[in-house]
Amino acid sequence: MWEESRDYNKAIDRYLEITETMFGPDMCDEIWNGCFNLAMNYAKDRVQDVVLVIGPRLLKISKFDSAAEVFEAVGFFEKAIEAYTQCQKWDRAFECAQQVRPMEMQHMLMNKIQEQKKSMLIQGGKFNKIVESGDMSGLEMLSQRGQWEECLSLANNQGPEVLNTYLMKFSKTFLQQGQFKETARVLVRYNCPAIQQMLPVYKTISVEVLAMDNNVELAVLKEMLQKLTENLESQVDKKNPIFIEFYRYLVITHLQLMKGDCQKHNLTVPLAQLSSSLLRYTKEIRADKAYLDAGNACRAAGLNDAAFIYFNRYIDLFDVIDDPDNAGGLDNTAFENTDIPSPFEIPLPEKNIIGPNERDHIRDWVLEIKVDGSVGQNLPQRRCDNCGDDMYECSLNCTNCQQNWEPCIITGLPLVKSNAVQCKICNKGAIREHWNDYISATMHCPWCKSMQTQY
Ligand SMILES: [Zn+2]
Ligand SMILES: [Zn+2]
Repeated sequence: MWEESRDYNKAIDRYLEITETMFGPDMCDEIWNGCFNLAMNYAKDRVQDVVLVIGPRLLKISKFDSAAEVFEAVGFFEKAIEAYTQCQKWDRAFECAQQVRPMEMQHMLMNKIQEQKKSMLIQGGKFNKIVESGDMSGLEMLSQRGQWEECLSLANNQGPEVLNTYLMKFSKTFLQQGQFKETARVLVRYNCPAIQQMLPVYKTISVEVLAMDNNVELAVLKEMLQKLTENLESQVDKKNPIFIEFYRYLVITHLQLMKGDCQKHNLTVPLAQLSSSLLRYTKEIRADKAYLDAGNACRAAGLNDAAFIYFNRYIDLFDVIDDPDNAGGLDNTAFENTDIPSPFEIPLPEKNIIGPNERDHIRDWVLEIKVDGSVGQNLPQRRCDNCGDDMYECSLNCTNCQQNWEPCIITGLPLVKSNAVQCKICNKGAIREHWNDYISATMHCPWCKSMQTQY
């Protein structure tokens, strides 16, 4: 009635007497806002006082945006900002802060809002919002909490530089925990960037996984090294030592995996050749197992000379692993002039892979076959196709003329031109006879997995 009779001051007084105990919050909100509008339109001189009464009341009944708006309208920016903050209307809070002078005050308020916004986002786990606003501390927080999946996927959206920084941090943490396979998996997911500071990470994973001889881990390692070497290839030429080093790891990994493949398809002879070739990598792979596997595979293929020599070395290694002080008795004559590392250069595991009973079975076979006298004199030989000298069949280089050969991707044997064939897709070479055996069993190139035919 006061309002209708245009007695606005009286109307305002009356409205202000209404408290939150009389009506519900929505009703109060409406009444007080009406009162505020009356003052704005007809009693300008009273507006600030009205706001000082209704503002706190609106806050009390949790009508934060209403409170913020009335505070803002009369220039009570700090109070308005506080109210906007409470209802998380960050943009409005920033708008208010922009109107504040002097500038020092404005900056202080802007920072305060930023902090509050951030802590609210952190509480709600909304790190993506923090990062998307250009504040990389969100990534830092995620990494500290070990939420790597989210951290890396957000970092990925920020470009390669940010991604690489967090891939590095992730790798460091995971490698320290011995999580080689997991680290490799994640690196594969982010396409294995070939950058200098990551190279030690790739190297550690390669060294550790190769030493373990576990097919699941090896498969992940192969994927990682394939991507890495592809990336390296686009940056450096194939004679670059970094490329050579990682390509070598890739070949070893591939050949180690080929063992299971040949076993699965009963490729007895290729398996024997492959297991023999792998002995040249006994600095990288688990050495005692490599000799045991080579002995078993050669014996199964009827290659008794080689089996005899490899088993003998295995038994020697078995004894050294059992009693490391007793390494003096090792004899390397059988392996001279080969590319197989001497037993003094290879790292040995702490424990043997088989028990003494199984070892005795092997020893019995060795002693039994030795009775023949003609067995196990020499490792299998071939003629160097360059100088004609005799050399160990599996060596990738001739000690006489220094000729080098690439390894066959099926058996690891030296790829001599006269009997080499190539995959039509990846161009990797294999020895014709082993290629044909392998393709007839699997129909796929062992390196690139493309469909292939026999030659
Ligand atoms: Zn030669
Ligand atoms: Zn291929």
